[in-house]
Amino acid sequence: MKNNHQNTAFNVQEIRKDFPILNRKINGKPLVYFDNAATSQTPQQVIDVIVNYYSNYNANIHRGVHQLSQEATDKYEEARQIIQQHFNAKHAHEIIFTSGTTHSINLVAYGFGDLLQKNDVILVSALEHHSNIVPWQMLCEKTGALLKVIPMTQEGELNMDEFDILLQLNPKLVFVNHISNALGTINPIKEIIGKAHKVGAAVLIDGAQACPHIKSDVQALDVDFYVTSAHKMCGPTGVGMLYAKEEWLKKLPPYQGGGEMISEVTFDKTTYADLPHKFEAGTPNICGGIAFGATINYMNSIGFEHIAAYEHELLQYANEKLQTIDGLKIYGTSNNKTSVISFNIDGVHAYDLGTIIDKLGIAIRTGQHCAQPIMDFYGISGTARASFAFYNTKEEIDLLVTALKKAQMMLS
Ligand SMILES: *Cc1c(COP(=O)(O)O)cnc(C)c1O
Repeated sequence: MKNNHQNTAFNVQEIRKDFPILNRKINGKPLVYFDNAATSQTPQQVIDVIVNYYSNYNANIHRGVHQLSQEATDKYEEARQIIQQHFNAKHAHEIIFTSGTTHSINLVAYGFGDLLQKNDVILVSALEHHSNIVPWQMLCEKTGALLKVIPMTQEGELNMDEFDILLQLNPKLVFVNHISNALGTINPIKEIIGKAHKVGAAVLIDGAQACPHIKSDVQALDVDFYVTSAHKMCGPTGVGMLYAKEEWLKKLPPYQGGGEMISEVTFDKTTYADLPHKFEAGTPNICGGIAFGATINYMNSIGFEHIAAYEHELLQYANEKLQTIDGLKIYGTSNNKTSVISFNIDGVHAYDLGTIIDKLGIAIRTGQHCAQPIMDFYGISGTARASFAFYNTKEEIDLLVTALKKAQMMLS
């Protein structure tokens, strides 16, 4: 296995060598991958961990007395500790492995089915991904709780004055993303958590879009629930985590029943296993969990300060260059944002733009980005979205701008 970067000076050309997929050609052109907010690419260091797992110690965990099972269990639990340390959770058992952000949110929403009553108020932000809206709507249908929306501004920020007013309704729960996947806005979650706690509300933060850019400290934030997916931070798909304060994990009922999550099963009565196993029914994505730990190690070897500084440079550069395109409008203009640019070009459909520049090897996303309410707010059907990672370059942004100008000429 190759060495990690150990926080040496940031050198994007060296880093790019870690990502085999960046050597791919698309339609005969070098791949320019600007769809990082949908999923990110995986470095060789993490691919090696996955290959090593299946080549050398693939086994089911926690049950076997045999050597392979013990090795797999040790690595899986080691990964839990890496995740715990990265997010600074107080206990390893406060980290629940899930299949990702969507699963984590559903787990919490399901659990609150037992804790909410008719007409209890819960608050969602206008900037959410569908996966942080729909599970709560399902919860409201079941319990009769009321979902209220913290509105957004033209800049794509949350309206904090309106939030203060909504808090007077004494909500039981507030759920907000750390960073908007559609616009890149970094929400003031520390302030939101503090204010919500003052009125007795619990807070869930959707950290899916933050984990590739920011190292979050759940104890410093004093957040009740923090959720994320490994694939947004260079890990594999189908694995993620739920962090929750121990007191909440004790209070919430299990989400799924099955093997692994039980202490004793008889046909009269079943008792549940201790944390974290109470929430981990069935055989988990063992290899994925181990790779999740490896991706956190990889990202830390580059260093989140380096990543943030470099991505900020890319964002500023792209902002400047994109403004040279006539009729280009950027959605989400907060001063506090990560390297995501949502835009439209006058008279051109985003889908057509995306299709044409794909022919030139450039991958961007077009559409609603699983956030239709944001598109409705701006009165548009969708946007084109370029989202940058630390392995992207300014030269690639130049290619994007040239390609967009070409597409614009063809389409208008
Ligand atoms: C990607 C994303 C999700 C969903 O993550 P899954 O891995 O598909 O479950 C939720 N919220 C935000 C902000 C995201 O960016």
